[in-house]
Amino acid sequence: MRNRKNQIQRNRERDRKNGGHIRWDHVAVWIVAILLTALAVLLLFRMIPKEDTDVDLLLEEADELSIETEGQTEPVNAVPRPDIDEQLLTINEYSRPGEKVDAIEKVVIHYLGNPRTTAQENHDYFESLKDLKNTSMSANFVVGIEGEIIECVPPGEIAYASNSMNHLSVSIENCHLDETGQFTEETYESCMKLTAYLVEEYGLEREDIIRHYDVTGKECPLYYVEHEDKWEKFRDDVMAYVEECRGSAKQAQ
Ligand SMILES: [Zn+2]
Repeated sequence: MRNRKNQIQRNRERDRKNGGHIRWDHVAVWIVAILLTALAVLLLFRMIPKEDTDVDLLLEEADELSIETEGQTEPVNAVPRPDIDEQLLTINEYSRPGEKVDAIEKVVIHYLGNPRTTAQENHDYFESLKDLKNTSMSANFVVGIEGEIIECVPPGEIAYASNSMNHLSVSIENCHLDETGQFTEETYESCMKLTAYLVEEYGLEREDIIRHYDVTGKECPLYYVEHEDKWEKFRDDVMAYVEECRGSAKQAQ
């Protein structure tokens, strides 16, 4: 018994000299425990749904900023904006419902069918419909006999001109001197240049320039329904003007 005590005493003294006795079985248990804990923590983190961290938000803001910067560097419309007299109609259910279009995919050309009326008179008629309350009619633009352009409804907003195409188009009404519906030179020129501006502004093609006739079969614009060649020439003139403007815009750079 004494020997055994002495033996334990000696072992302790030796342990002190050696800096402690290492129990390898204990160490192994600790290592396994630490590894399991680390694994559990790792799994837990992977299960937590990723939320927006501050870094993510900062990155999103940076993206938005770069989009804005891209917007600023986008090429401007090569076709000059014609002189437009902006006289927006009062928002009302008969001529300017104030609703957005779904997209601008077409420019629809019309004639008023009311010889010798001016752009201003037709604008004022559209405006009066809110009080008359019996007719729905309007157009985004009216081009007058002297080539003047009045904007009644901004493009991107619905005007009541082109029936089923109202929510996909921008409409141009044209004044004329007589029953034939032929445009004066000035009306033709302004309508052509305004159409070219809209074609370039909304990334449209020649085929996207259409007549009211192409939507419903209505004889509008009359002269350009009865004279198909004049209609095709109008579209050619628009596209030639677009090309000409693109050419001079390139030279200016
Ligand atoms: Zn029409």
